[in-house]
This record gives sequence, C-alpha cells and structure tokens, in this order.
Amino acid sequence: MTEALLNVVGVSRSFSAGEDELTVLKEINLQINRGEMVAIIGASGSGKSTLMNILGCLDKPNKGHYFINGQDTSAMDENELAALRREYFGFIFQRYHLLGDLTALGNVEVPALYANEGPNERQKKAKQLLTRLGLSDRLEHKPNQLSGGQQQRVSVARALINGGDVILADEPTGALDSSSGEEMMKLLRELHRDGHTIILVTHDPHIAEFADRVIEIKDGEIIGDTLNTKINDDQSSDSAAEDASLSAIELDDHKPQADQQTIKPPAVKHRRLARTLNWSRYLEALKMALVGMTNNRLRTFLTMLGIIIGIASVVSVVALGAGSQQSIMDNIASMGTNTIEIKPGTGRGDRRSGRIRTLTAADANALKSLSFVDSVTPTVRANVAIRYSSETVSGSVQGVGTDYFRVRGYSLAQGQFFAEDSVVAMEQVAVIDENTEQALFSEGDALGSVIFLGHLPVRVIGVTQPIESVSSNSDELNVWLPYTTVSGRIFRQNYVDDITVRVDENVESELAEQGIISLLTMRHDTVDFFTINTDTIRKSIEKTSDTMTMLISAIAFISLLVGGIGVMNIMLVSVTERTREIGIRIAVGARQTDIMWQFLIEAVLVCFCGGALGIGLAYLVGIIFSYSGSDFQMIYSGTSIVAAFTCSTLIGILFGYLPARNAARLNPIEALSRD
Ligand code: ADP
Ligand code: MG
Repeated sequence: MTEALLNVVGVSRSFSAGEDELTVLKEINLQINRGEMVAIIGASGSGKSTLMNILGCLDKPNKGHYFINGQDTSAMDENELAALRREYFGFIFQRYHLLGDLTALGNVEVPALYANEGPNERQKKAKQLLTRLGLSDRLEHKPNQLSGGQQQRVSVARALINGGDVILADEPTGALDSSSGEEMMKLLRELHRDGHTIILVTHDPHIAEFADRVIEIKDGEIIGDTLNTKINDDQSSDSAAEDASLSAIELDDHKPQADQQTIKPPAVKHRRLARTLNWSRYLEALKMALVGMTNNRLRTFLTMLGIIIGIASVVSVVALGAGSQQSIMDNIASMGTNTIEIKPGTGRGDRRSGRIRTLTAADANALKSLSFVDSVTPTVRANVAIRYSSETVSGSVQGVGTDYFRVRGYSLAQGQFFAEDSVVAMEQVAVIDENTEQALFSEGDALGSVIFLGHLPVRVIGVTQPIESVSSNSDELNVWLPYTTVSGRIFRQNYVDDITVRVDENVESELAEQGIISLLTMRHDTVDFFTINTDTIRKSIEKTSDTMTMLISAIAFISLLVGGIGVMNIMLVSVTERTREIGIRIAVGARQTDIMWQFLIEAVLVCFCGGALGIGLAYLVGIIFSYSGSDFQMIYSGTSIVAAFTCSTLIGILFGYLPARNAARLNPIEALSRD
C-alpha cells in the first residue's frame, strides 16, 4: 500500500499552564488517506482542535512527527508551512473567521492573493465559487450583512479557491441552526465526492454520521476508529442536481483526483513561488491599509496629528527663515551687489565726519585703477528743493559718477544716463526716478524739461525704472546729476560725501577691502575714513539666520520624533486589536513577510499622508502669514519639502517596524482564539 496522505506518528502536544505542563495530545498515531472523509469526535476539551491545528500546519507537535505525503513537516521552515496552508489546506472554522472589512468576494480572494494569483484571475475564480455556492447576489456584502449559513459558505469558497485538496473543518456547524448545519454537511459530502479530502471536528454524533470514518478522541488519546456503514447513497441522492452543479465548481487545474498525486513535495513548490516576484500582494496590502484607514478616520487622523504638526512646523520654520533672510538680502542688494562703501570718519555715528573733507573725486579715480575694481562712483549729496514750474517738492539730490547706476543696479525707463563727458564738463543734466517724474510732471513730458535744484536749472535726460527693493523707501524722490555739477556748481567744493566701489564678481571682498584701505591710507597718510562691506554683512546675516533656522528645525524635528512614537504606539494597539485578522491571514497562508509588509505599509502610509497634510498646513500658515501684514513672505523650498516627506516616510518605517514585526510573529492559534 502507498503511504497515507497525512501521517501522524507519535505526536504529543502540551501547553505550559503556569508551573505545570498540560498534555493535550498523547502519542497520537493517525493515518488519513487521500479522498477520505473523516470525522474526529470527542467531548469539549479533548484536544480535537489542537489535533486539527497540527494537521493544518498551524501548530507544531512537541514530540513525534507529522508527514504530509511522506514529507516530514518538522523539517520545514515558516515559509514552507505557510505555502502548505495556502496551497493544500482549506480551513473552515466554527465562527467562520471572515475579515470584517472585506466583502464576501474580497474574503474569498485572500488565499489566492497570497498565492500570487493575478487580480482578474482571482476575482473570476472567487465569483465562480460564490455563484455556485448560491451567493451570487451577496458578492459585495460584508460579513455582518450575511447570515451565519451564508458566512460559512463564504468560508467554504475561501477554502476552495486555491484548490483546497484537504478541507479542515473545525466544528463547521457549531454556530449554525440545525437546517443550515445539515446543508453545510451536505455541501462537505459533495466536496468529498468531488475528490477533496475532508477532515471535520465535532462533538455532535449526528454530524459525525455524515463522515465515512469516525475517529473518537478522549483526553488526548484516540479511543476509537470506525468506518461508518450507516451512510447510504440516499442521503445525498436528493441533492443529485446540486451535485452536478457543484462538481463544476472545481476549476480544472485544481480538481483533486484521488488516483493521482496532487500534493507535490512542498519544498519544491515553495521555491518555485519564491522566484515569482509579485507586486500585486504589496498593492493589495496598500489597499487594505487604505480600507483600514478610512474605516477608522478619527483614529487615523489623531495618529497622523503628531506627524502633521511636526512636518508643518519644520516646513514653515524653514520657509519663515528663508523668507526673512531673503528680505534682508534684498535690503543689502539695494545697496549694490558686492559693493564696498567708503565714508569719512572713524565709523558710523562719528560726529566729526562732516568736518573731514579729505575724500575726493581723485580718490575715486585712483581706486578705479585697481585691478579688482569693477566700477567706482563718488557721491555728493545736496539738500535743496526740487522745483518745476509751480510745483516744489523735497527729495534727495545726489551728485554721482557715471558708474553709479551700474553700481546700484538702476535701469532706464526713458531717455539716457549721463556720460563721462557730462561729468567732465559739469553739465547741468539730471536723471530722475519715477516718483519724481510723477510728482512734478503730469503728462509724461519729463524728458527735455528743465527743473530747478535750488537755484540751479538742470535738464532732465533720463527716467529710471523703479527697482524692486523692500528697504528703499518707495515714496522717496531721487534726482541724480554728475557729482562735478553738484560740487562745482551748487557747493563749490572739491570733496565728496562718500565713495562706493563695486568689486569684480570673483574677487574675495575682504581682500578687496584690504586693498582699498591700504591704497587710501597711502594717499591720505592717515586712516580718516572707514569702509562698509556689504558682502561681509550679507555673510554674517546669512550665518545667523542659518543658525536660527537650524535651531528651530531641530526643535521641530524633535516634535516629529514624538509624532513618530505616537504612530508606533497606535500601531501597536492596532496590532493587538487586529490579532484575529492576523490569525486568519496566517491560517489561509500569509507568509510572515506578508503580515510584516501589511503593517509596515500602513505605518508608512499614515506617516506619508501625515506629511502631505503637514505640508498643506504649512502652506496655509504661509497664506495666513501673508495676510497678517508682515513685510516679508514665507519662501517654501523644494528641498525642505522633499526632506520633510522623506523624513516622515522614514519615521513610518522606523516606528512601524516594531509593531509590524510583532504582528508577523503572532502565534496564529492564539490569534484565532482571540475575539
Ligand atoms: P477541543 O477542541 O477538543 O474542545 P482543544 O484542543 O481546543 O479542545 O483544547 C484541549 C485542551 O487544551 C483544553 O483543555 C484547552 O484548555 C487546552 N489548550 C488548548 N490550546 C491551548 C493553549 N494555547 N494554551 C494552553 N492550553 C491550551
Ligand atoms: Mg475545539
């Protein structure tokens, strides 16, 4: 005789109950052949379920061996056992154990999903099975919308979807009324006739009568093993019509045939599956995570809250820092880019500086000859009224060099700037800004008009475009004319108020400053001037505001960490809460990695969505901020947003790992007995 399909040899199973050991199965020996229908009967607590769990590879014996088709299961690892559960066994439980979040169809598909079946194919199969089990109008119903009998039929379909060569039914009628129970038993008999090996556990002798062979168990020992002769074909003949339809349930490739060895060596098959990488499982885990999240919206939101606040604060702080820095930079830029100002005196606020008259246009010319100098302009300021016909306004009148406009970054709206010739000839020409034009001329006839600066008549030859600068007073009126004209024709003096030097782009401004200082010191024989280097100011501001941003970001990052710990906490609770679901998934053949991924994906998804909402919140803060009347805007950098997203995702992985690992390591039997 060939070897039995399932062969239990000297199997014992004991549980530790406090100090003592409770031996539930005692040296069991049992052979079950392919195609048999066996009932295991015994009183409650006699060890039936424990035996069933060992038969279904959900549990391992402490002692003895369990061979499936000649293969010793004790030599198999977790993945190989999962593959066996997935591909050869189909479980039917007393309390159905369907996943509450999924529809009937979704529940039936689960084992096929773990067997790497494509989405269309597994849906087609599930539909077929449910239709043939009379549930075609209940496909989209959730378990709590189904009667007990219907739920049990869904679980039968689930047991069959991967073939279900061996059906293990633990008290399948225990929760059903007698008529549904009888129907269930007829269904199992039909499956038996189709070639499935059926093992059912019951405490009810009437139910056991449906089986061909009845094994009696008492206190963990087999006390009887009899063939049931009472079965007559009449019992099932009344369902002959149904029978025909049921045999059609079997999808050809899965139809078990009693005369043929359908169970292949599991190790070989497992290795083949391991090579088929299938994203469908991860996609499904993602879908499940989304379903779980939407079913618990408030909790999901509260879980995310820490991440949302953390990300929002990181992004807004960085944006705020960038915005304020930018506004300071704009101020400095309005002083000219890479410029050095030279003023008389010993420093800002030196009262005697007005009396120092050693800074001259000649100094400016001398500076121009330095190799690193791009352009130089002296400035002479005059405090005079600006008049045109009957209009008199006050504004800033400055005598400047031709380079001035380049140094300060002005461009023309109309007309032209004055040239070197005009400077040499002390010409009475002026360039005005748009404010002055609007103040004095109503019809845009500024060009060519003559205005009076004090008593000096000058002709307007150019109008500048307004420059984007936050600092420069936008109401200020500016009139520029050659510095020679101001010092020669208004003041009759030969010194200037200050000199502005623009340094070449690629020159280190500190070095340039040193060069300028030593040249002027040589010319004046003394240091009666001081320099203001905009580049140095810019750098120091950049540095302080960077430090501030880093500091506040560090605090925000800590809040993000706290948020992550919150996520971990809730995920751990969620694992405990969903223990039963995990048990079911493991029973229908999920690998440990499948469970792990499901929870990890959920944690990452929560953090990712939290990150997205946090960034949204940060933008909202920016909008509110811009209406708050602040003089600068928040600037959002792509880098900080990408960093925030990466950070929240990493937190999901980091803090999701522990709960996910806990879930994957759950003992399926304990998990299933939980409610
Ligand atoms: P049956 O299904 O025949 O009613 P079980 O196989 O479920 O019985 O349980 C047999 C005995 O083993 C019971 O006394 C039960 O308390 C004990 N038992 C079952 N599972 C465990 C476990 N995980 N830990 C401790 N004791 C257990
Ligand atoms: Mg039991």
